[in-house]
Amino acid sequence: MNNKNIYFDHAATTPLCEEALNKMIPYFTEVFGNPNSQHAFGRESVKAVDEARDTIAKIINAKPSEIYFTSGGTEGDNWALRGVAHAFKDKGKHLIISPIEHAAMLVTAKALKKEGFEVSYMKVDEYGVVDLEHLESIIRPDTIFIGCMMANNEVGTIEPIKEIAAIAKKHGVICFTDAVQAAGVLKIDVKDLGVDLMSMSAHKIYGPKGVGALYIRNGVKVESILTGGHQERMKRGGTTNVAGIVGFAEAFKIADRDIDKNFEYVSMLRDRFIDRVLEEVPFVKLNGPRTGRLPANADFSFKFIEGESILFSLDLAGIAVSSGSACSSGSLEPSHVLLALGLPEELAHGSIRFSFGKHNTIEEVDYAVDTIKDAVKRLREMSPLFKAEGDIKYV
Ligand code: PLP
Repeated sequence: MNNKNIYFDHAATTPLCEEALNKMIPYFTEVFGNPNSQHAFGRESVKAVDEARDTIAKIINAKPSEIYFTSGGTEGDNWALRGVAHAFKDKGKHLIISPIEHAAMLVTAKALKKEGFEVSYMKVDEYGVVDLEHLESIIRPDTIFIGCMMANNEVGTIEPIKEIAAIAKKHGVICFTDAVQAAGVLKIDVKDLGVDLMSMSAHKIYGPKGVGALYIRNGVKVESILTGGHQERMKRGGTTNVAGIVGFAEAFKIADRDIDKNFEYVSMLRDRFIDRVLEEVPFVKLNGPRTGRLPANADFSFKFIEGESILFSLDLAGIAVSSGSACSSGSLEPSHVLLALGLPEELAHGSIRFSFGKHNTIEEVDYAVDTIKDAVKRLREMSPLFKAEGDIKYV
């Protein structure tokens, strides 16, 4: 076991920050009441959840009544897509999403197809940016939902959500954005953006796992998917995750307070990494745009090598990264995101995502580049593909 332990997989999850942990602890022990209970224990918990709701609403310029706590991004995405589809099915059955959405959207859309909904996909360019003209051209009188992520979890592309929301509004269609990778990293003002719904998750921003929120603009009709008790103003059943919610709000507050500082620092690490890899490792392709991407994200395809073999070499050297998105890791399928960007299958197979965080250092970045150089050289020496094609310059 290598003793380096360098973590470059912040897009998969982040460590819980100390501030959030300290804020959460009492809610596991002394303040344990169920917020639904009609007694002092319950009221203390209600107070904590209300405060958290106020904090989160304020950060994204929403009203507290527009914040619904969930179990994370997956539930928020499911709720938005399914909830709108079911609420508006009498108006129409046509849904539009981007082809580079998270599985929480793509798989839900597939399930809705089985219920008789039709799904169209917006076109994206070679960097993953949505083609707005194409989007407008595929809207139909029966379109009821337009959904696009604010920033892609694999290649880091930041999407023109304000423009997408304006197109949706012009055509009277509900607009949703998955801000799981963006909330706490990019400044978000839901009113300025004009979206109707937005999902968020705590564990991407140094908060706890298993908690998030869905912003639902007041007045927007969305059917519940978790039916049960009266929680979340009758819209989402299930005993409230008080400690998780408290930790989420605290982590979001810290992330928002430090947003500019973190953006600048993490972008500096990423740029140093990208510059060095492009300069020093032959036959690599940076996936996603050079600018207009999340500060933490660098995604590369290494020609002639399987992504998994680089991942294992880096793991042996004590560096944690992921191949493709966290969720498709472990599968041998090429990345759906890279295929949508037009990459050939062999490059869509060979991608590695590096995602940096506020605790990483320049020394770690430099060590990673040196390790990659060695690993790539060694793996290519063993690759019959490289021997056959190695003299062809790849651009
Ligand atoms: N949406 C995006 C863009 C994500 O990156 C993720 C997690 O990787 C999710 C949704 C799912 O969020 P959660 O892990 O909170 O369920």
